[in-house]
Amino acid sequence: MSSNGAGLKEIHKLRLRLQELTEEIERGPRQIAARQQLADKKKAELEARRTKLKHLKVAADQKNLQLKTNEAKIHDLQGKLNGATNNREFDALKSQIAADSMANSVLEDEILEALDGCDAMQREIKDFEAEITVVEGELAKFAAKVGERQPDLKSQAAAIEAQVGDAEKYLPPEIVPQYRRLVQSYGAHALSPVTGTACSECYVGQRQQTIVELRSGKCIFCTCGRLMYLAED
Ligand SMILES: [Zn+2]
Repeated sequence: MSSNGAGLKEIHKLRLRLQELTEEIERGPRQIAARQQLADKKKAELEARRTKLKHLKVAADQKNLQLKTNEAKIHDLQGKLNGATNNREFDALKSQIAADSMANSVLEDEILEALDGCDAMQREIKDFEAEITVVEGELAKFAAKVGERQPDLKSQAAAIEAQVGDAEKYLPPEIVPQYRRLVQSYGAHALSPVTGTACSECYVGQRQQTIVELRSGKCIFCTCGRLMYLAED
């Protein structure tokens, strides 16, 4: 292989590795953010349930208060019933007491239902709290693991970046501006090995003349834009 070809192959290898490292460096914080978002969503759901429980309790208390008021009213009516002076008054009080007692029995059912609702909500809240504890524990562990790995990944990336810089010093100066633009657009895929006669990025077959020129060390850009080198000479 020509020295240019070997140089391009090396640059490609290094750039691919650098790209892998960069992706890994960026992936960690992204995964942490996604997990954090999930934990936040669960917390918001927990808060919504706490608020709902508060409302259920207020509703149950109001019904209880209503029940007490009605009971006092019935007690009062019973006192009047005992002092009734005629049948009409007696019947009217009796039917009023019957109606109020019926209303109270409905209220009692509603209070039981409301208390059941509170219990169910409290159980849901407990489940959510337990789930959030687990999610947050896992998140902390994951974040610590990512954090531990970052310095090593970053120093590896820095070392490879330096190697890329060294290797790129040997590029023919006339192709450097175009090469830089390519790297900007395609990253590591600015370079493309030619396997057989085809460019690995666009699969277009190259003319025999191009292969010969590549073999002799000429820097040639494919029609897809990439800087080609022979995968194996
Ligand atoms: Zn191509």
